[in-house]
Amino acid sequence: MEHITNYNRCTGCAACAAVCPVGCITMKADNEGFLRPAIGQSACINCGKCARICPVNREPASYPRPAAWAAINKDEETRLASSSGGVFALLARAILSDGGAVCAPVFDGDFTVRHIVTRDPADIIRMQGSKYVQSEIGNCYSEIKALLDAGTPVLFSGTPCQTGGLRAVLGKDYDHLYLQDIICHGVPSPVVWQRYLAEQGSPVKSASFRDKSNGWLTFSMRIETERGTTCQPLTRDPYLRLFLRDLDLRPSCYDCAFKSAGREADLTLADYWGVKKAQPDFFDGKGTSLLLVHSEKGERLRARIAPALRMTATDLDRALAANPAADLSVACPHGRTAFFAALDSRTIAEQADILCRDSAATKAKNLLRRAVNKLRG
Ligand SMILES: Cc1cc2nc3c(=O)[nH]c(=O)nc-3n(C[C@H](O)[C@H](O)[C@H](O)COP(=O)(O)OP(=O)(O)OC[C@H]3O[C@@H](n4cnc5c(N)ncnc54)[C@H](O)[C@@H]3O)c2cc1C
Ligand code: SF4
Ligand code: SF4
Ligand code: SF4
Repeated sequence: MEHITNYNRCTGCAACAAVCPVGCITMKADNEGFLRPAIGQSACINCGKCARICPVNREPASYPRPAAWAAINKDEETRLASSSGGVFALLARAILSDGGAVCAPVFDGDFTVRHIVTRDPADIIRMQGSKYVQSEIGNCYSEIKALLDAGTPVLFSGTPCQTGGLRAVLGKDYDHLYLQDIICHGVPSPVVWQRYLAEQGSPVKSASFRDKSNGWLTFSMRIETERGTTCQPLTRDPYLRLFLRDLDLRPSCYDCAFKSAGREADLTLADYWGVKKAQPDFFDGKGTSLLLVHSEKGERLRARIAPALRMTATDLDRALAANPAADLSVACPHGRTAFFAALDSRTIAEQADILCRDSAATKAKNLLRRAVNKLRG
């Protein structure tokens, strides 16, 4: 087997590596730092299983329109430690309280982002919060299959391409498997994240991509090192500026095979960015989740966590109008090639200064918008 799928559309989901009957696929970092399948040609028996199960090679399916909900966790501490309204933690606790397991990403010792499978409630806090780096799946699909075959309920949480990868590996549905994905505009390279961490000047002790101390809409990168703590809003932190300009995303994110309001997951979580206009009574600047329910199983789980939430049904079209990443890939920016070409010669901060500068026209537009907002009060 030479190629499993189109190079630029491969998501790095690692489903091919999990199903190869002779174990000849390993996930290796490419020159941008993204994991890709590498086939050991001498061991490959050309069975074609990897290409058959690759979720990117499937015919696009259509899914029903989901029900949409605005949701806020009533527990303020959990909500503030989460990116949006704090729904994920409730889903995870519900499955663990059934004796189940949860699979979601955490930071490991060197702040690499990896999915882990856990049955320990103490791990939920590590799983909370968006980590804007592509997460490594490792052996999680096989661990999940073993748990499901033994009758253990499992919640899998990740990007749509990862839920697609898990479904492909399992090859069937299980009543006790709950898939929760996110509206995902893309994942940056792990190498960019490690460079940024190395530039902090002192060993990093903790990191949060979605600190809310400057507000939810103007979230901040909070980095604690041995020398102190910095908390820079999305307009100033170099890593967030590059991410929000889509300069360091995986190539597949510019032509994503998983874009759709309807999904194969049971539930989708997102920031309800348009809540202030669409549902003003659910906006207080501390974070509101948009929860999309795609299946009966998803609806059962939603109803189960409902008592712990302030929640109301909301209009799907209005909600998605403020969240185009649900069904559209972001455009690949002109500066992306220059960004990766200069990865070894410029710091992340220098790259952000050079590539994220506003044009004169954008500056004028922002000035005008601020003036109009001021006049409106
Ligand atoms: C890379 C990325 C891009 C996103 N893009 C958008 C977007 O364009 N629009 C939008 O509305 N929302 C986006 N989100 C989702 C949003 O940031 C919140 O994760 C979501 O609203 C859930 O928030 P919560 O408060 O319920 O729980 P939280 O506790 O904040 O939940 C975090 C959720 O993100 C998942 N997660 C965290 N890091 C990763 C990772 N590296 N890989 C896979 N899954 C991860 C967890 O499994 C969990 O489901 C994105 C998240 C990530 C990680
Ligand atoms: S299964 Fe996943 S990692 Fe393997 S080729 Fe397809 S998209 Fe890439
Ligand atoms: S063709 Fe079969 S043996 Fe070869 S890499 Fe793919 S799954 Fe493995
Ligand atoms: S944008 Fe698509 S390809 Fe990229 S991480 Fe998200 S789901 Fe995967």
